[in-house]
Amino acid sequence: MISIAISSVLKRLKIRSHLPSTSTTLASYSPVDGQLIAHVVQTTEASYQNQVEQANQAFSTWKQIPAPKRGEIVRQIGTALRAHKEDLGALVSYEMGKSLQEGYGEVQEMIDICDFAVGLSRQLYGLTTQSERPQHRMYEQWHPLGVVGIISAFNFPVAVWSWNAAIAWVCGNTCIWKPSEKTPITAEACQQLVQAVFTKNQIPQAVSCLIQGDASLGTLMANDSRIPLISATGSTRMGKSVAQAVATRLGKSILELGGNNAIIITQHTDLDTALLASIFGAIGTAGQRCTSTRRLIIHASIYEQFKQRLVKAYQQIRIGNPLDEKNHVGPLIDEQAVQTYLSTIEQCKKEGGKLVVEGGLLSGPNYPSSCYVKPCVVEMPPTSKITHQETFAPILYLMKYDTLEEAIAIQNHVPQGLSSAIMTLNLKEAEHFLSVNGSDCGIANVNIGTSGAEIGGAFGGEKETGGGRESGSDAWKAYMRRQTTTINFSDKLPLAQGIKFDL
Ligand code: NAD
Repeated sequence: MISIAISSVLKRLKIRSHLPSTSTTLASYSPVDGQLIAHVVQTTEASYQNQVEQANQAFSTWKQIPAPKRGEIVRQIGTALRAHKEDLGALVSYEMGKSLQEGYGEVQEMIDICDFAVGLSRQLYGLTTQSERPQHRMYEQWHPLGVVGIISAFNFPVAVWSWNAAIAWVCGNTCIWKPSEKTPITAEACQQLVQAVFTKNQIPQAVSCLIQGDASLGTLMANDSRIPLISATGSTRMGKSVAQAVATRLGKSILELGGNNAIIITQHTDLDTALLASIFGAIGTAGQRCTSTRRLIIHASIYEQFKQRLVKAYQQIRIGNPLDEKNHVGPLIDEQAVQTYLSTIEQCKKEGGKLVVEGGLLSGPNYPSSCYVKPCVVEMPPTSKITHQETFAPILYLMKYDTLEEAIAIQNHVPQGLSSAIMTLNLKEAEHFLSVNGSDCGIANVNIGTSGAEIGGAFGGEKETGGGRESGSDAWKAYMRRQTTTINFSDKLPLAQGIKFDL
């Protein structure tokens, strides 16, 4: 049953759904049914300049608040998210097109990162080092950076922001967020929740700034020396542009870019687990996750058997309105994404691909927009160029291998390096995959697919994926500056290299 009344959801999330369409507003249409959700006010350049200024001023207040007290504010934000999980999850699903369960899951990730950040706010540890000089103490401490710019992609319209913002806040930074122009409403809803918490606690509003608009705003941020750190999530094309601009001014950046993730399925695999991991990874979020499984590299001895089971399983996939929990796959984000999906299938054919599960655009009463496509499976030669690109759609490539070294070479021989997995019950194979001769990705899993990640680990990838790390582990260090301190509590000043002055 599809029983979600989006207008009530918008009302409860305090979205101004009556804003008219003008040259200064940005419209958001749902890929689920093509309907207009609402307009938001687009940020002008003048307003952008003002907001960065405000964010800088707010920093001087926010950084003075002890970290555990900042953590308390983030705890309250987590509580507000818990209270609105269903509404926000439904809005994520409706605006982005992912399934309702994935929408709820995305909000749960936000809640989890708030919990993580609260704990972190009592840590942010620095090391104490043994000094070589008598009666000297050496240690390092961590200070906030200032304003952190967050540029986010459409496919995780809110979780990626929270991974950055929750950590950046407990570290003492203020944030300015530019969400994807394709998902402005969910961003607006988050900003409302955060601002309510700030108002209640008399925290300056500009600790969390939201700017709405297209890539030109992201370009302004990348070039803005008042923003010491830019955390940018999106395509490799975007990342290269942001990286250059930020590097020119010697700023810092965290880049979370495209993936081209593979699962190696060995002859020692539990086939049931491998099948489930492959399907979930390939069709989840309609293949629009940075960690989506795009390539299966299968041992020759089980290739045919696995292919047949996969083809059979694909017949069971239910495609349709993602708000209906019985469907597995919703729409792509927009018609442009559909065109890219269709042209990639054509390119696969040109490069010698053989479709074992046909793709195509879906139409009819069950598909209330022109963004629903069929997840497809193509047998491809591993050297084909198209398989070295990330196509943000449910297209799964099958490849065959004979030796594990060959499988790992195929897996690594792409420009991206985000997520990877091996499905094997053989310890030697698993350890080889995880060794220095194994996967070159930021994420390497055994008997778990490539898709998704827990917030407790550092998330990110190598090569064209950008090299950034976000979320758990010690990813917080990227949001702070390290200061090494030496304190002399002796009566002397021992100089380096034993140098003496006769003063
Ligand atoms: P996109 O690059 O088109 O846009 C992402 C964001 O960057 C948007 O807010 C956009 O307005 C902005 N932007 C675009 N060009 C810019 C520029 N030159 N300067 C500054 N800002 C610019 O990406 P998308 O289509 O929204 O998202 C899909 C991509 O994001 C995929 O490649 C996916 O793999 C990647 N992604 C990566 C991760 C990760 O953690 N590695 C997570 C989610 C998505």
